[in-house]
Amino acid sequence: MTISYEKFGLKEVINASGRMTILGVSKVSENVLAAQKFGGEHFFEMSELSVQTGKYLADLLKIEDAQVVSSASAGIAQSVAALIGKGSVYHAYHPYTDKIQNREIILPKGHNVDYGTPVEVMVAQGGGQVVEAGYANMCSAEHIEMMITEQTAAILYIKSHHTVQKSMLSVAEAAEVARSNNLPLIVDAAAEEDLFKYAEAGADLVIYSGAKAIEGPSAGLVIGKKEYIEWVRLQGKGIGRAMKIGKDNILGFTQAVEDYLKNGSESGASMKERMAPFISELNGIANIDASVVQDGAGRDIYRASIKVSGDKSAKEVITELKSEDPAIYTREYQANNGIIEFDVRSVNSEEMTKITKRLTEIMN
Ligand SMILES: *Cc1c(COP(=O)(O)O)cnc(C)c1O
Repeated sequence: MTISYEKFGLKEVINASGRMTILGVSKVSENVLAAQKFGGEHFFEMSELSVQTGKYLADLLKIEDAQVVSSASAGIAQSVAALIGKGSVYHAYHPYTDKIQNREIILPKGHNVDYGTPVEVMVAQGGGQVVEAGYANMCSAEHIEMMITEQTAAILYIKSHHTVQKSMLSVAEAAEVARSNNLPLIVDAAAEEDLFKYAEAGADLVIYSGAKAIEGPSAGLVIGKKEYIEWVRLQGKGIGRAMKIGKDNILGFTQAVEDYLKNGSESGASMKERMAPFISELNGIANIDASVVQDGAGRDIYRASIKVSGDKSAKEVITELKSEDPAIYTREYQANNGIIEFDVRSVNSEEMTKITKRLTEIMN
């Protein structure tokens, strides 16, 4: 039996919710699939594959070195371990030894978030101990500086919509504190779109997730100073083994970064163009008023927004959209106001037709 949803009794999923880990994040392109296929069908000297793809990516990203890892989470754990062990093979073999004392990782309190997994868990996996700086609603360079001790191994900054945004020091300010105290700065930019600016702002290691903005296969990327990347690579002899990435995904992800740099992500204008027929079809359905709205955080992302009136509430409509096969997932944040949003970045025109068909059934 060939692969299909039916083989495992699974529902087809239409993802109009955005880049959601619970739905498998993103779909990869034909180009990336071809690179994965080449990886799957050939042997490699794995340490060469790791070093050479890293070097290739480092050239593209205009940085000293890079390492493809299995996920951004693995990137956090291995970066923390790298900066605690500082290239010691003894440490790689004994990652949690109490013979090594410098384990404190300073993290703004408002960055100590749960992105699906708490940041703290990944720091602990790398052998680090989180030391929070600042308060729930603010953190300045001074707040970071006052937490530095002999035991500090690194400063960690989480650049994400999950974190507290207001009264928060910038990456450049965190880099300045790090530099003036001779400490490395790690920036977790897992879901961010800019692959240059955090390193340019002075971060020593920057971490990205493979399947979010970059739309690659399951992978992560750590970029930064050559020496630190070598220490990250050394973790493959220790904790990194449990986070191993396969040759297929190393090659697929490297291709995805190259394509992403060349093509960028889909523009808002293109989303609006693809959505135009969808919007007019939605407006033909009883008790639905559809329009185009821009992303609340002001990113170049446009979504279809429907206001639901009549007997059914937006919440009921959302539940019904998910209940059948295909299961249709939407953005639910504004359901209380009777609004449902459709993020079309991973939705093609055929799927838009399936959505309008199903909505018509639900509303009649
Ligand atoms: C998604 C995310 C991660 C984890 O990425 P994975 O590649 O899924 O491990 C880490 N940090 C932040 C801020 C994220 O948004």
